[in-house]
Amino acid sequence: MLARDLVDANTGGALERAEQALHRVWGYSAFRSHQAGIVEALIGGQDVLALMPTGGGKSLCYQVPSLVRPGTGVVVSPLIALMQDQVDALRLLGVRANFLNSTQSLPEQREIEKALLDGALDLLYVAPERLMTERLLELLHGSQIALVALDEAHCVSQWGHDFRPEYRKLSILAERFPHVPRIALTATADARTRQEIVEQLGLGKAAQFVASFDRPNIRYMIPDSGSAGARDRLWRFIRDEHEGEAGIIYCLRRRDVEEVAEFFAAKGRTCLPYHAGLDAAMRRQNQQRFLREEGVIVAATIAFGMGIDKPDVRFVAHLNLPKSVEAYYQETGRAGRDGEPANAWMTYSLSDVTTYRQWITDGQAGEQQKRIEMQKLDGLVGLCEVTSCRREVLLGYFGERFNGPCGACDNCLDPPITVDRTEAARKALSAIYRTGERFGVGYLIQVLQGKDETRIVQNGHDKLAVYGIGKDVPEPEWRRVFRQLAARGAIFADVENHGSIKLTEICRPLLRGEANFAMRADKPAAKKERKKRDVAPKVKPEDAELWEALRTLRSRLAAESDVPPYVVFHDRSIVDLVAKRPRNTAELAEVTGFGSVRIERLGEAVLTVIAAH
Ligand code: ADP
Ligand code: ZN
Repeated sequence: MLARDLVDANTGGALERAEQALHRVWGYSAFRSHQAGIVEALIGGQDVLALMPTGGGKSLCYQVPSLVRPGTGVVVSPLIALMQDQVDALRLLGVRANFLNSTQSLPEQREIEKALLDGALDLLYVAPERLMTERLLELLHGSQIALVALDEAHCVSQWGHDFRPEYRKLSILAERFPHVPRIALTATADARTRQEIVEQLGLGKAAQFVASFDRPNIRYMIPDSGSAGARDRLWRFIRDEHEGEAGIIYCLRRRDVEEVAEFFAAKGRTCLPYHAGLDAAMRRQNQQRFLREEGVIVAATIAFGMGIDKPDVRFVAHLNLPKSVEAYYQETGRAGRDGEPANAWMTYSLSDVTTYRQWITDGQAGEQQKRIEMQKLDGLVGLCEVTSCRREVLLGYFGERFNGPCGACDNCLDPPITVDRTEAARKALSAIYRTGERFGVGYLIQVLQGKDETRIVQNGHDKLAVYGIGKDVPEPEWRRVFRQLAARGAIFADVENHGSIKLTEICRPLLRGEANFAMRADKPAAKKERKKRDVAPKVKPEDAELWEALRTLRSRLAAESDVPPYVVFHDRSIVDLVAKRPRNTAELAEVTGFGSVRIERLGEAVLTVIAAH
């Protein structure tokens, strides 16, 4: 059965035909916000610029119109590694999809080119440099083109994070194919990038769709306890919330990645390292296992993730700070692309902040750029220390207004207690001042606590009035005071002077006794017994067996067709299958993700498993 034949050409409006494709081919019940408008505009021949967050459902925006319009939809994507999975997934739905790239043999390429000319392709994925070859442009002229989709369109922007010069050349498409509608898509929202996309790709007349960048299914958690025991805390979190589920743990350094991978492996989880120091074969293998096996955790430096489209990543954890709010949003955004609940968990310490400052200062960038990077870092520290809704601050950073409480961040779920630490803050500031702004946090705490270290005595700091005035406050609490003073910008670690702590203007009112200092209280780890879950969170105990049986079936089918499990069907489909327990193909058609072709292929196997439970 061909997906295209499931769309009835005689059905009235563009949107109706698009909805037919959505139901019958993809097995989904309705378009998400913006998808309908985008699809309708494209089918009507209009150019579109679509800004949607990761997981927002960008692919359907051009895949559906490619089936509804006559001809082939041409998709330009820089992510060659992803093409295979996308094409596999589409084929399982009966869509005639293929890609052209350098991994294919020449005869293979010729065959695909012929299919294009014969009108036997619904979708063709190509890399930008390939599209710009005269050969392919000529072929396209000889074929019927339904639309051109420019995925990851921010690559055209020099301000963005992944500038690709070949994207600039894509502007000639408007001249060479003036009657083919184009859609540019990106998950990068800032105004500057958007402007550049419009200018560089000649999309001045395009209909613009800007979705909210909120990711409502992601729960944000930044437990505030410094770095001590961070791995153990993360382990407890993963054990309690993510048994058997896939996730990513980001670390700053390769050494940490290796240690974390070993640590979690020792706890009985499959946890694989990924960083630039591993050879390419090992990296590829670990990435492949992450995609193909269920429940794999990857411990990685930030090098991991770009171009990974796995929809069922259930958590993203940071054991170190990312370098900006943008990076945090992007990295956490890799969780829960399928819309199912997911967690973003992060812990951080002042030494992360100091390390970054050092890197920025030592870096090759100009003064202006360094200042921007410092500000970005401060923005992130601010997000960590805020006591109000994190989602509000996160989206506010991108200029989007969100009125909390969101009910799905740690601050909303468990509002932090603030305590008055004016006295401690003042003592900390005078310790910095009295010792000449020349020492790091560790030393300052020793002075405050009145430790008789040789260094302190040699420096004569045991004679200072601040010596020993902080005996009553334990060391971790002092660290928190310093960290939060840094977060407010009252002090900073001067990386040009070995991280010695310096005062800023902001601390003056506090030192003079004109301002108070309230900060998050470090709550003792919640003693409340968490309900331990044996299987994924969405499953009731009585459904656990069926859930596992369906996962097993999915793994087997995936192995048979050599595709990742999520290509066979998504977690959301399993949730729906377990809830509805369909008994026949008609009932199966009501389950999300089960369109006609999928039912034809997998229906019997799925129904048999359900009947057995
Ligand atoms: P993006 O490319 O924007 O990150 P995708 O196109 O990969 O997002 O879509 C994310 C997930 O949402 C996919 O699993 C996709 O099948 C699903 N999805 C998209 N649109 C819908 C819809 N209208 N109904 C149900 N699921 C959808
Ligand atoms: Zn919130």
